[in-house]
Amino acid sequence: MGSNVSIAIVGSGIAGTTLARLLTDDSPSTEITIFEKSRGVGGRMATRYSEQLEFDHGAQFFTIRGNRFRQFLSPYKNAYKAWPAATTTLSPDRKEYTRLWFETHYVGTPRMNSLCKKIAESLDIQLQQKITGISGAPKQWFLESEDGRFGPFDWVVSTAPAPQTQTIFNKPDLDAPYDATFALMVPVEERPEFDAAVVRDSPVSWLAVTSSKPERSQLKQLGIVAHADSQWSDKHLDVPADKVKGELLDALEALAISGLQRELATLHLWRFSRPLAAGTQPYFFDAREHLAACGDWFMGDNVEGAFDSAHALFLTLRKQIVDKGAEFKIEKDT
Ligand SMILES: Cc1cc2nc3c(=O)[nH]c(=O)nc-3n(C[C@H](O)[C@H](O)[C@H](O)COP(=O)(O)OP(=O)(O)OC[C@H]3O[C@@H](n4cnc5c(N)ncnc54)[C@H](O)[C@@H]3O)c2cc1C
Repeated sequence: MGSNVSIAIVGSGIAGTTLARLLTDDSPSTEITIFEKSRGVGGRMATRYSEQLEFDHGAQFFTIRGNRFRQFLSPYKNAYKAWPAATTTLSPDRKEYTRLWFETHYVGTPRMNSLCKKIAESLDIQLQQKITGISGAPKQWFLESEDGRFGPFDWVVSTAPAPQTQTIFNKPDLDAPYDATFALMVPVEERPEFDAAVVRDSPVSWLAVTSSKPERSQLKQLGIVAHADSQWSDKHLDVPADKVKGELLDALEALAISGLQRELATLHLWRFSRPLAAGTQPYFFDAREHLAACGDWFMGDNVEGAFDSAHALFLTLRKQIVDKGAEFKIEKDT
């Protein structure tokens, strides 16, 4: 790849870290900087933890269906493991039946965000930098944040969800509708008989026992993550958090989950939880403006979809930069 091309990547979820790793490994002379608004990497592959408890409150697991993903992940085998969960389906009328998984489900180890952490090892990451916009011009882009401006960069790639990318690039066309999801995290005194459950006819749509995941067994206390149904979440966006929390705890009790430590429950709102539909292209790419975007809103509403989009963008970006590098070399040689 051409040397000394500088690329700013917004976001350090699976899409951002994958793209940064592929570009860096392909050409170490490409200067990649990741800007992440949160305190850590991983994006929606997230874990919230304290001394006593850990909750994967975003993505619950991921699949590895494609060979590309499998191959890309092979150097990071210590950072993920299969989760052979005992799964069930629950509903408030107590109809319950075992639900089998027909493919392997994986989780980051020891935490969901460990995979992105491993992929991002040794990359240049600026944490707690919320990018509010860009200024300048193609090949001379500056990223604006509350702390100042960064740059110049030849290219800017956003891996933030569509509405956030739309704001950063000021491109109203870059839009995609998203579900919202409330995630309730609650310690329990009694371990349910299952590890994970799909829930019907309830404000809750999914439950998982955190300590059932691999490499979490050292946890001192049991915890449950409950995801609210997306339609229910959308309807409750303006409802005070304590009321949302109370209603979700009641819903868990209606599912006969006992020993809930209600007073220790915490709530997180994923405003842009999952895109409602895949995009019409595998990524956004503007060769004239030197702007691009990738993530799960292009190729599927899951971890592997986000990877696929980042990988597809890598191939295009690489070709573009190689071609430009060749032109540059010819110009220099003559
Ligand atoms: C509740 C929930 C459950 C899910 N369950 C599953 C599941 O079981 N299996 C599965 O495969 N997928 C699941 N998903 C979806 C999966 O998590 C996502 O598809 C995937 O993680 C998206 O990766 P990404 O890199 O595209 O985006 P993200 O992980 O969202 O990464 C984008 C990053 O950009 C950062 N960012 C945003 N705006 C800015 C800004 N202005 N400046 C700087 N940084 C910014 C964000 O902080 C974030 O780190 C779930 C998601 C949620 C929320």
